[in-house]
Amino acid sequence: MDTIVSFAKRRGFIFPSSEIYGGISSTYDYGPLGVEFKNNVKRAWWKAMVQERNDVVGLDAAILMHPTTWEASGHVEGFTDPLVDCKVCKKRWRADHLLEAKGMKPDFRPGALDKNIVCPDCGGELSAVRNFNLMFKTFVGAVEENTNQIYLRPETAQGIYVNFLNVQQSMRRKLPFGIAQIGKAFRNEITPGHFIFRTREFEQMEQQYFVRPEDTDKYFESWKEMRMQWYLNLGIPKSRLRFREHEKHELAHYAKKAVDIEYDYPEMGFSELAGIHNRSDWDLSRHQKFSGQDLQYFDQEKNEHFIPWIIETSDGADRAVLAFLLDAYEEVKTRSGVDDAKHKKEIVLRLHKDLAPIKIAILPLSKKESLQKVSQDIQKSLWKKWMTQYDETGSIGKRYRRQDEIGTPYCVTVDFNSLEDKKVTVRDRDTMEQERVDIIDIQNYFEDKLK
Ligand SMILES: [Zn+2]
Repeated sequence: MDTIVSFAKRRGFIFPSSEIYGGISSTYDYGPLGVEFKNNVKRAWWKAMVQERNDVVGLDAAILMHPTTWEASGHVEGFTDPLVDCKVCKKRWRADHLLEAKGMKPDFRPGALDKNIVCPDCGGELSAVRNFNLMFKTFVGAVEENTNQIYLRPETAQGIYVNFLNVQQSMRRKLPFGIAQIGKAFRNEITPGHFIFRTREFEQMEQQYFVRPEDTDKYFESWKEMRMQWYLNLGIPKSRLRFREHEKHELAHYAKKAVDIEYDYPEMGFSELAGIHNRSDWDLSRHQKFSGQDLQYFDQEKNEHFIPWIIETSDGADRAVLAFLLDAYEEVKTRSGVDDAKHKKEIVLRLHKDLAPIKIAILPLSKKESLQKVSQDIQKSLWKKWMTQYDETGSIGKRYRRQDEIGTPYCVTVDFNSLEDKKVTVRDRDTMEQERVDIIDIQNYFEDKLK
């Protein structure tokens, strides 16, 4: 993991946030390559979930919502962690984690903590357990008083539920149908960590699929398989992924069933990457109760009013970025030329082409003006469609290595022969095979390679 953290910073993928001020814990900024990469992850998700389906539509709800939303959702009352303070060193701990570490049941309920459990750092006595709400609070308007208090959303799902009827009616949807959304969510975690695995500000890719109650099991199973297939299609091997069904004590009280897709992260081992949840009719029922609005669906064929059940698919954009990055990173023996053979290893980022931040690098063999002109014309013909990068500094071997490190699938080299035969050399990141391609055909060539 440390290797990936420093690699991600060095190559412009992910920086510690506000680093010049010493950073802010577990908060990260996506750099020039990171933002391209993450956008590609989100685009791939949207394509699979919305664009290539007739039964799912998109939504972009506001981060700030009416505060009653979070009473209805149960977050005000129940979205808490049980915390204890060390009376000696003042460090704060998750009571359930301390129990887990002692091999005791992790399904901690508030109450007195076992006297044998002391501060793991200093051995000090611990305070009684308090429930700490994970929602970030802020105030609307000029006056900081309780009536103006609102929350930064701790999940995107509620923005979908409160818009259920707006979407269903404006888009003339019949069950089953889904609403998909990508957006930021915020949780004041006491123990974030493992790089971008758990951060206080994060981005979710969620989809809520509304179904008839009797259809829930069927759609749960099909969504489970589809979400797993998405990660496989984008290059993560089966051996590093698995399903894990939540046990009864892990389930939220309203949830009928929950299955995680887990990835085998370094240090952590298999941990959550995505989830599929049967949320029953709980969410819409609660919003109906708290809003006083009728949120029932009317089934015309059966002449029946009822609250739909929901199958939720939940993926973390940052966790997906982390898994794809970890998985693509490979250190190989020197492979790109002898001109500066001092280095012993090279890095190749074997990202799926759809996810690679830069698709094509354009590398004139020298800084001669004649080569620059041809190279720039080629880049201009390609950048309308794809992210490209122009690099004319250093030996060609060094430039290939730079592109391999950031996962660029193709490099185009313009040499002096190009001026005569109007061809360029295209090099493949993974096979390192080189091919001469007519400049006039270059767009079609990449259209085919990158489709
Ligand atoms: Zn202590």
